[in-house]
Amino acid sequence: MYKPLTWTWRSLLASGIPLFMRRTRSTATRTLKFANKVAVVTGSTKGIGLAAARRLAQDGAHVVICSRKQQNVDHAMTMLQDEGLSVTGTVCHVGKAEDRERLVAKALEYNKGVDFLVCVAGVNPLVGSTLGTSEQIWDKILNVNVKSPALLLSQLLPHMENRGQGSVILVSSVTAYNPVVDLGVYNISKTAILGLTKTLAKELAPKNIRVNCIVPGLIKTEFSQIVRLKESSWSYLSIFFPYRVGVPEDCSGLVSFLCSPDAGYISGEMIAVAGFSPHL
Ligand code: NAP
Repeated sequence: MYKPLTWTWRSLLASGIPLFMRRTRSTATRTLKFANKVAVVTGSTKGIGLAAARRLAQDGAHVVICSRKQQNVDHAMTMLQDEGLSVTGTVCHVGKAEDRERLVAKALEYNKGVDFLVCVAGVNPLVGSTLGTSEQIWDKILNVNVKSPALLLSQLLPHMENRGQGSVILVSSVTAYNPVVDLGVYNISKTAILGLTKTLAKELAPKNIRVNCIVPGLIKTEFSQIVRLKESSWSYLSIFFPYRVGVPEDCSGLVSFLCSPDAGYISGEMIAVAGFSPHL
């Protein structure tokens, strides 16, 4: 864990010191792999998104965080800045076009371009069957989970193309492969993200932008609390998650890898972070 470096880092950030010269304290002696890179991470004030934002910033990127609630943005931003990380943020409900525009504008403030987009924001407002789901709920889930990553990417694309290369990471779920009863439309939205990954990977290959997808299992966050409370006995959960329940940090190393040149020939891929593989 990073120790708070409050005033020192705040003044460094304000000082206009070039990105490539910035170092977090524990990495002062080595070059940060994402120096000069800018990452946008949606749904990044808690859980998987927050862990991904922290990791990309620890690896040297300037990270723009966002979520729907100002207080969550303020809290996460202060926490990460106090850890010595280069982070700015704004309110953005990914389902709202004007919020996405504000997010793009915020991202461009820093270094006039964007290198990485990590679309973590996702919702599941209903526990119930697919056929019992109202049209309003269908629209909400598909808008936020499936349409918004594509729409945000289309708004950011010119600013990623300018960089000559880029990496996009979408977030699905093991429920895309093994649907959970009572998570009807959510399961479907997460399967659609696999299709979105494959299609965008091909469409954006000529622009040198890679698109991949992480497929979390059961990760200990607020989002999964309902499942974990409902099925709290480990003997039950271990049938599906034989290794253990995950933590958000289990996902963040993979996000960093997929953004890095080490993954430079990987696109259209879906990688499970679940302690088991849902693939054949
Ligand atoms: P979490 O801990 O509850 O965090 C969700 C984050 O997203 C919060 O920062 C929340 O902040 C923000 N958010 C929610 N709706 C948003 C919206 N419409 N626009 C922008 N930001 C929004 O959840 P999590 O477990 O990390 O889940 C994140 C993603 O992982 C989701 O796509 C989920 O489907 C996927 N996933 C999670 C698990 C799991 O077991 N946890 C498993 C598989 C997949 P605000 O409230 O301020 O908006």
